[in-house]
Amino acid sequence: MSHSCCCLAVLASSSSGNCAVVTVAGSMRSILLDIGLSPRRTRTAMVACGFDPGAIGAILLTHFDSDHFHGGWRAELARRPVPVLVRTGMEQRALQAGVPAYCLRTIARPTRLGSVATVRAWRTPHDELGSTAWRIDTNTGSLGWATDLGEVRAEVVAGLRGVDLLGMECNYDQQMQLDSGRPMHLVRRIMSASGHLENGDGLSAVAAIEPSQVVILHLSRDCNCPRLLQRLIAERLGAMSTRVRIAHPDQPSGAIPWGRSIAAPVNPAISRLEVAAAEPSDGVLGSGAWAID
Ligand SMILES: [Zn+2]
Repeated sequence: MSHSCCCLAVLASSSSGNCAVVTVAGSMRSILLDIGLSPRRTRTAMVACGFDPGAIGAILLTHFDSDHFHGGWRAELARRPVPVLVRTGMEQRALQAGVPAYCLRTIARPTRLGSVATVRAWRTPHDELGSTAWRIDTNTGSLGWATDLGEVRAEVVAGLRGVDLLGMECNYDQQMQLDSGRPMHLVRRIMSASGHLENGDGLSAVAAIEPSQVVILHLSRDCNCPRLLQRLIAERLGAMSTRVRIAHPDQPSGAIPWGRSIAAPVNPAISRLEVAAAEPSDGVLGSGAWAID
């Protein structure tokens, strides 16, 4: 049965593994945002959150660090092909990482996922190849996703402005990072403009983007503290802070609804029949996959 609203569940969010599930109103399929957990752990967590692991229609990847792309997915994708979307410039890295060529889709411009969603991607600064900020627009709402980036550039703020739900990295507290005792080259890399986002910078981006709801992602275990971050959120975001939650590093968040419910008379153009007719499968990828164009 198709989902009546758009939902997000963060299955895990830390340097040990990142994966989130997105369902889209009007479709029975779901999207995975990064696959940094093993296929088995992903399935178990999806079931625990009430999602059907057999209904994954597409995978969006931010980048290929092992906490965002678990090697176990190579065999899984060969067995059960699903479209894997990366932004332009990531193709070679994706093939190198073992994404089967017939699964790979490069997103250079706003691209339709079946008939229910449009995705777009921006390069963000992170190490040599960068990471990716994603935006998913559906008939009933919009979701933005930005993790593993040294800074949030103006085009990403503009591109994600006003989304219904925003996932934004707040990786570290500056003082905790400096006091961490980590090797200086590592501290420098993390704190650089192509490293990870410091709490204050992540929250400034949230304030500028003005989303309706926020999930804070990818807290460093050693150099961040949820309580400290919670205080900073209240200080920096004021009234908006009641609509901000912090993802747990390794416990699924449960389903978070975003956008409008399809049952509401906001877009009577979508009927179940139309949705069913407009969700053709991609021949190579089997009946579970979305057509991407
Ligand atoms: Zn990461």
